[in-house]
Amino acid sequence: MPDFDYDLFVIGAGSGGTRAARVAAAHGAKVAVAEEYRVGGTCVIRGCVPKKLLVYGAHFAEDLKDARRFGWMVPEDLQFDWQCLRENVMAEVDRINQAYTNTLKTNGAEIIEQRTTVSGPNEVTLADGTKKTAKTILVAVGAHPQIPHCEGHEHGITSNEAFNLDGIPKRILIAGAGYIANEFAGIFHQFGAHVILMNRTKDILRGYDLAIRDRLLQISMMKGLEFRFDATFEKIVKLDDGCLEVHMSGHDPAVVDLVMFATGRIPNTKGLGLESAGVEMTERGAIKVDDDNRSTCPSIYAVGDVTDRIQLTPIAIREGQAFADNLFGKGGGKVDYACIPSAVFSHPPLAGVGLTESQARQKFGSVRVYSSDFRPMKNVLAGRDERALYKMVCDGETDRVLGIHMIGPDVPEIIQAAAVAVKAGLTKTQFDATVALHPTMAEELVLLK
Ligand code: FAD
Repeated sequence: MPDFDYDLFVIGAGSGGTRAARVAAAHGAKVAVAEEYRVGGTCVIRGCVPKKLLVYGAHFAEDLKDARRFGWMVPEDLQFDWQCLRENVMAEVDRINQAYTNTLKTNGAEIIEQRTTVSGPNEVTLADGTKKTAKTILVAVGAHPQIPHCEGHEHGITSNEAFNLDGIPKRILIAGAGYIANEFAGIFHQFGAHVILMNRTKDILRGYDLAIRDRLLQISMMKGLEFRFDATFEKIVKLDDGCLEVHMSGHDPAVVDLVMFATGRIPNTKGLGLESAGVEMTERGAIKVDDDNRSTCPSIYAVGDVTDRIQLTPIAIREGQAFADNLFGKGGGKVDYACIPSAVFSHPPLAGVGLTESQARQKFGSVRVYSSDFRPMKNVLAGRDERALYKMVCDGETDRVLGIHMIGPDVPEIIQAAAVAVKAGLTKTQFDATVALHPTMAEELVLLK
């Protein structure tokens, strides 16, 4: 048996890597985890956590206005202090970063704060040139924002920089139509920016139910967001006054103060040395893995965004946990990718679990759809003309709920609970057998017609 420095060397201390390192160390393995930026990874440092805090911050713009209808004396000239929010969010990020670091250390994992590359099936090379050996290497390096190839793209930012802006731009063009684009569109709009969302197709949020996506589009337009569809970048020109003139196909140029690319995320495998160990990758640079997260090199595994399966934090965490349990614990860890709930923290948010109506029709043929299109009580009193839409897609033959899709206040919170029932394979009749909890928005789920 060769002697290795470590049982496990993890590259990347994000959602997947941290979980795998911590659990493997707790199972008794000798573990090191290398991180080139900050422990916690995308989710904690520049993803889910700071994003959600900005979403909360942005929501006050509407809440404070609505509060007047509920009797609160809110001054007309509402002031928003971006620096205050930014600093508070950063302080919270620092706190969680420290908590993650402490958890790794308490469980006995060694943290190496250096970029690390693979230099063989059982060897890694740190940025300072030191080589370390490990019986198993786990690659959990995540992904980074994709930037369109167009003249002047260097003038744009990505979500990575959005959290550290000096101020809120008056006008921002956000390229993309996925969840990051739509979430930041809502955030910047609520903070007072004029937002242009530009996308190369006519679709937003592909993968979500069409009726729900349409409702978000309709509400966003009503709020004043501008959409430019079927548009691709031609060039971005920096004008003498510092503004950016964005030239795009099919539309007049747009002059804005900031351009943000939210056009997808690609795995961080460039320059990682994976070829040295015979690790195969997809065309997009994702590491190919089997059901056990093992790459084409038997001693190298990969979890999370770098495998480009489902780029969500809870998935990276589950994959990291399953990997560590299988290799260093009692085994039995397999990730079940069916019925994963997901949400878009737009304004208002939307969420879904299971099959969309069109997916269900393709798969099952006979499908029954129930829906509720209503104005939430709070919106009615606030004089806010925004309607919520809940949709339930059922198998026409068995009555089983195949999917639930919602847009409206707090739907991400509601869908998490509803997802338990969908995953458990409950029927519409079983939903209806549950007494409504009145008055809530969620009660619509057991009253759908
Ligand atoms: P990461 O968390 O990205 O961790 C990878 C780590 O590896 C990083 O810390 C990186 O610095 C490090 N690294 C990379 N290369 C090296 C190297 N060579 N050497 C050493 N270290 C290296 N998901 C959700 O579920 N809900 C959300 O609301 C949500 N919001 C998001 C919002 C934004 C703006 C973004 C960008 C992402 C969001 N995500 C969300 C996605 C989520 O953040 C990712 O799916 C998750 O972080 C993936 O975890 P990971 O472990 O694969 O990678």
